[in-house]
Amino acid sequence: MAYLPNEISGPVPNDADRMFWHYCQQHELRFQQCTSCRRFRHPPTPVCPHCQSFTNEWVVAPATGVVFSFTIVHHPAHPAMKTVVPYNVVVVDFPAYNHVRLVSNLIEVPAQEIRIGMEVAVAWETAGNGMVVPRFKRKISA
Ligand code: ZN
Repeated sequence: MAYLPNEISGPVPNDADRMFWHYCQQHELRFQQCTSCRRFRHPPTPVCPHCQSFTNEWVVAPATGVVFSFTIVHHPAHPAMKTVVPYNVVVVDFPAYNHVRLVSNLIEVPAQEIRIGMEVAVAWETAGNGMVVPRFKRKISA
């Protein structure tokens, strides 16, 4: 099972998400939390969309998330993608963090085994531009 290929590209941080990527480079998945209303948000924004506060902090994500939704991409939208389809795109939800969600990919999981609600844990990979990016693996039950 292929997935979005690391060799093709990688994220380019902007002013809003620079800290998110900064922590990713240290293998830390952190979400922005409003220090006023305590809600989490992603993608990061300078102002809280709930209470309009400008203050926030970066809190380490729970060890486990759950697949909220997913799709399998079969059509190569760009010629460079021809060699990697099909690949998956998942939306990972963190219920304990007011359901903040992250779009990513599952690795080492065959497409036919991906399920909504399955528990996943972050796994770090390096994209083509050298940026460390968060992917997810199936959580191994203890
Ligand atoms: Zn707020």
